[in-house]
Amino acid sequence: MHDSTSTQLSLIRQLKFCAGHRLYRHESKCAFFHGHNYRVDIEVVAAGGGSEVDSVGRIVDFSLIKQRMLAWLDAHWDHAFLIFEEDANALAAIRMVEPTKYFVMPSNPTAENMARYLLEVVAPGVLGDLGVVARKVAVWETDESCAVATLTGDAGGLGLALASAVLIDDRYDR
Ligand SMILES: [Zn+2]
Repeated sequence: MHDSTSTQLSLIRQLKFCAGHRLYRHESKCAFFHGHNYRVDIEVVAAGGGSEVDSVGRIVDFSLIKQRMLAWLDAHWDHAFLIFEEDANALAAIRMVEPTKYFVMPSNPTAENMARYLLEVVAPGVLGDLGVVARKVAVWETDESCAVATLTGDAGGLGLALASAVLIDDRYDR
């Protein structure tokens, strides 16, 4: 029987931002314009996986994850409205406001889809040259509710299958 263990190292950095959204076609109050104080937990591993660290003993410096991810969030999502590209009514409304800041999403701006977008689109673009891969992104919409997007398979590989799961989801009861 195979009986060996190995150590996998990862970092988790928390990031915070504020944004507005609504859920297109939501059957209840989430269809209204409203906002959240979002928290993002991003977990990164070395591109080679395993327990690879630099000469100082780091996968990567925490500050670089913060700088890169927060720069993107500040520029695109913070104090912006996130709107689904098919939500023509919301897009028309937000474009009437002066000044305005909004971000057009390829999917409804649920915590699940936001986590997936950060994992699949944003993290590879802003972290790629640091030699790390984002393995998991959790988007906390409230203190009690978050959605998690996770790369499955070999964390060092590219083109990985993506699994998205809701850990806690009571948002529609609030
Ligand atoms: Zn909401």
